[in-house]
Amino acid sequence: MCGIIGYLGTREAAPVLMDGLRRLEYRGYDSAGVAVVSPGAEVASVVKCAARVEQLIEQLRTDMPAGSLGVGHTRWATHGKPTVLNAHPHTDCGRRITVVHNGIIENFRELREELEGAGHEFLSDTDTEVVPHLIEHHYRGDFVAATRHALGRLRGAYALVMFSLDEPELLVGARLNAPLVVGLGEGEYFIASDIAAIVAYTKKVLVLGEGEMVVVTSLGPVVTSLDGIPVEPRVLHVDWDVSQAERSGYPHFMLKEIHETPEAAANALRGRLDRQGHVEFTEFEMDDERLRSLEEVRLLGMGTSLHAALAGEHVIEDWAGLAARAQDSSEFRYRRPVLGGNALVVAITQSGETADTIVALRAARATGALGVAVTNVVGSTAARDADGAIYLQAGPEIGVASTKTFVAHLVSLYLLALRLATARRRMSPERCEELAAELRSLPDAVRHLLAGEPEIARLAHRYAGYRNFMYVGRGLAYPVALEGALKLKEISYVHAEGTSGGELKHGPIALLDAEFPVVAVCTASPVREKTVGNVHEVVARGAPVLAVVSEGDRSLEGVASDLLEIPRTGEAASAVLASVALQLFAYHLAVELGRDVDRPRNLAKSVTVE
Ligand code: GLU
Repeated sequence: MCGIIGYLGTREAAPVLMDGLRRLEYRGYDSAGVAVVSPGAEVASVVKCAARVEQLIEQLRTDMPAGSLGVGHTRWATHGKPTVLNAHPHTDCGRRITVVHNGIIENFRELREELEGAGHEFLSDTDTEVVPHLIEHHYRGDFVAATRHALGRLRGAYALVMFSLDEPELLVGARLNAPLVVGLGEGEYFIASDIAAIVAYTKKVLVLGEGEMVVVTSLGPVVTSLDGIPVEPRVLHVDWDVSQAERSGYPHFMLKEIHETPEAAANALRGRLDRQGHVEFTEFEMDDERLRSLEEVRLLGMGTSLHAALAGEHVIEDWAGLAARAQDSSEFRYRRPVLGGNALVVAITQSGETADTIVALRAARATGALGVAVTNVVGSTAARDADGAIYLQAGPEIGVASTKTFVAHLVSLYLLALRLATARRRMSPERCEELAAELRSLPDAVRHLLAGEPEIARLAHRYAGYRNFMYVGRGLAYPVALEGALKLKEISYVHAEGTSGGELKHGPIALLDAEFPVVAVCTASPVREKTVGNVHEVVARGAPVLAVVSEGDRSLEGVASDLLEIPRTGEAASAVLASVALQLFAYHLAVELGRDVDRPRNLAKSVTVE
């Protein structure tokens, strides 16, 4: 997820692009660039840097490119490290076609091979660069026709803004599975990832629909489907101020990011999982032979990442039949860890900079273990220190409490477990297909869950008066319970504990009374009945119970005080859905208590000290 902007009009483009990029920076900030062209120019002026937008602006101040047509980009890398060469905009061989892109081109490898075979020369490691070359390849004197042809060959997700020096009166945009809006000014037009980038210039906005393309000239925009069928544009008048616009109208980044979960789950899966359940990672290539020789997997993380590690431990053992153990990185690093000869160490860190996890990863690799980082930041320290990386591709997360990246971590670890299971021939083809279908349906299932947010907000309101909570789960729902409790304490400062259902009777149950509610995760699982048993036990002690159940499950009606329903699906997807439901519950409860949810006291987004 990154930020893109394009401008066509009468004023100088560069200052507009700089201003837009500054407002889009929350969408990505590992590198940035602009390309600007003045009428009749033989080349576009391109300025890029491998740093934040501020640095690009510094560079532009001393060398401001002239021209009233241009595009800009602030990147959150998915393919290729954050370097100047990989920064957008990207161009074709003739440097006539300039493109900025948000998203992931799933079939970029095949396209790149084909284009290289036809003589195209690539300069970057990005998936994006295939786009200008593909347009160049199909160009027969009509930029729009060539673009349309090229787009027809792309799979994956894109919001694109592009222009050609051969037709500098045009600015073209297109979207598929990524957002794009067009701003309509007086004789000037903007195309951007979101309204935040352009709201300072115009309040009249055309929201491009899924699979639509826009061609902007000085006469205005023309919207069509990707294959050229005219579409009636949907123009809206926005009355948000700039800071609301950055949050797409949401009151907090945390809520906005929870609502980005369907996209985050889709991006974590994108190009990696086929219908048969075969998994392929780009930056973590490991042959089946090597994966078969593994004897153990150690998953290291802190906080929310440790909870993701626990879920990873569960599925790696369950699906791949491989000994797995999740561990607190800060404990691991100060032990003398004993790892089997053929161990895989999985470092789980959203930022890739968590000090404890990096040191633990290094210590593990020093014993000869193979290391993989599962992280949201391409080229981060953890990714560099490991033998390979699995990138979350979730875009930046601004809210301090992790939400969409927890889901992306779960999905990525499911994929890793599936990869191990197939390499080790531990899963029947039927089960692989079933799991693939379950995971592929996740983005829609999360959308369905989010539609029920008002009911979750109502429950949060109802429970906001309690000062203590106990979260309970078993199996995959155990880490979900731990994470649910952590989310609540992080942002609401209300005491919450997570425990396994089995552990409950060994101590925690002593705490419970009518003032100490239990949140019980009773969703699809082979051990669901056991958790249901726990619910009966705690109800008998007078504790109010909020039970998270699969849609239509009435077995706890009249037993639990309240039911929170999530879409009915398998155990793995249910763990994701229950997590999102509990994030929303924590969010609304914290808002009810008037907490600063995006910046909770005493916490930092990434803990780069031990
Ligand atoms: N896939 C592109 C890149 O890595 C765009 C990144 C994004 O939109 O997140 O450069």
